[in-house]
Amino acid sequence: MLPVIALVGRPNVGKSTLFNCLTRSKSALVADYPGLTRDRQYGLGKVGPAPYLVVDTGGLTGEGEGIDALIAQQAEKAVEEADAVLLLVDGRAGLSSADEEIAARLRRSGKPLFLVVNKTEHLELSRVLADFHQLGIGEPWGISATHSRGVHTLMDRVFDAVAETLPEGETRELQRTALGVDDGSIRLAIIGRPNVGKSTLINRIVGEERVLAFDMPGTTRDSVAVPFERDGTRYTLIDTAGVRRRSRVDAAIEKFSVIKTLQAIEEAHVIVMVLDARQGIADQDATLLGYALDSGRALVIAVNKWDRLDIDTRDQVRSDMARRLSFIDFATTHFISALHGSGVMDLFASVNQAYQAATRKLSTPELTRLVEDAVAQHAPPLVHGRSIKLRYAHQGGSNPPLIVIHGSRVEHIPDAYRRYLVNLFRKVLKLQGTPIRVEFRGGE
Ligand code: GDP
Ligand code: GDP
Repeated sequence: MLPVIALVGRPNVGKSTLFNCLTRSKSALVADYPGLTRDRQYGLGKVGPAPYLVVDTGGLTGEGEGIDALIAQQAEKAVEEADAVLLLVDGRAGLSSADEEIAARLRRSGKPLFLVVNKTEHLELSRVLADFHQLGIGEPWGISATHSRGVHTLMDRVFDAVAETLPEGETRELQRTALGVDDGSIRLAIIGRPNVGKSTLINRIVGEERVLAFDMPGTTRDSVAVPFERDGTRYTLIDTAGVRRRSRVDAAIEKFSVIKTLQAIEEAHVIVMVLDARQGIADQDATLLGYALDSGRALVIAVNKWDRLDIDTRDQVRSDMARRLSFIDFATTHFISALHGSGVMDLFASVNQAYQAATRKLSTPELTRLVEDAVAQHAPPLVHGRSIKLRYAHQGGSNPPLIVIHGSRVEHIPDAYRRYLVNLFRKVLKLQGTPIRVEFRGGE
């Protein structure tokens, strides 16, 4: 599973700036989905030697009362789940008593700690850093989050420290994501907020099928990967709910964890997002959907507990759900009962379809012909009287499929035209279940 790096510090030291710097996303590629609340507390780290999850724990004041106490609890949970903790302090403001209190608390956590002195871009580093030695959590490291200075080297050091905490032989696992290791099985993550029925669904799936083996190599950290076979297809279920432990120990004490969910999303080829038919789409559902969409993973939606609805309310719920989910036009929605098993078979048909779509190889001639046909049917608009030319297309990546279209003046392609192309690709190439990314390259 991806290592987790938590950012801790009092307000205004630059945590969210550093968060943005570490998770920088190619904004042109990330589709915008209206209607989704998007808190930016968790993100996929991209600056450094390998991917990881970054958690911004929010402001810790070091005082620990009232609302601060609440935030402090959240922060402590994040620290508990983290593999390394970066304590951020403000190099311009100098050492404060709040820094000292937070440092004292972090020292008790037993996690690898890094003291990161931010906003050092115009400062004399040695003098500023000397000030912070007394926090007693090691050598201070100077960065500038706004200028991305010192950040890459910092992450190299953090990774070295995280690697040291791992059992022998597991270091390699830090480098891998779902797509890095391919044992030929479809990696499946079943996600959702507490009580929507994830464990029930997982037990139904795994209970029905032949479980191939329990533990897989390289999954000794909290993750639980359960390989199973269904109709001749091999799957690996990435368990976020602690189901296996739960069924063994028979205690539903495993707590819901956003971090585990995000780790599972990153490991998966296909995500099954479980919703509760009686509750519509709650805020927490929307947040998880947002993360699922950001990840670019193939997605199937399971509206569970369908058996609990009266027959005459089902049509209403079906259309309400369809309306709320209309912005995720690529995912197939199923109405299921994990408890009784109805609809579960169809769910798997969509999982398979989504996996095939997400990993399909698309040839350059095929894509180029499609772009030519698209332009013939409906040409891009003129810019200042001159036409935008689209010449050829090739596949730039898979899971999700990335289609790179080469041409000239492509920077003027309107969003509506991009959507027209995506819809056409989806229809003609039968890419149901996966997002499709389109990138334009000019200068030709
Ligand atoms: P947070 O409350 O810890 O999340 O802090 P923010 O990321 O919101 O940053 C607080 C302020 O510090 C903002 O005005 C940032 O622009 C500024 N800031 C963050 N990083 C740097 C830095 O590296 N240099 C300077 N000069 N300002 C920074
Ligand atoms: P999780 O927290 O998402 O893993 O949810 P659980 O699988 O533990 O389910 C929460 C509760 O919902 C349990 O009492 C289940 O028996 C119940 N439940 C789950 N799926 C269904 C379903 O399809 N129909 C009905 N009626 N109850 C369900």
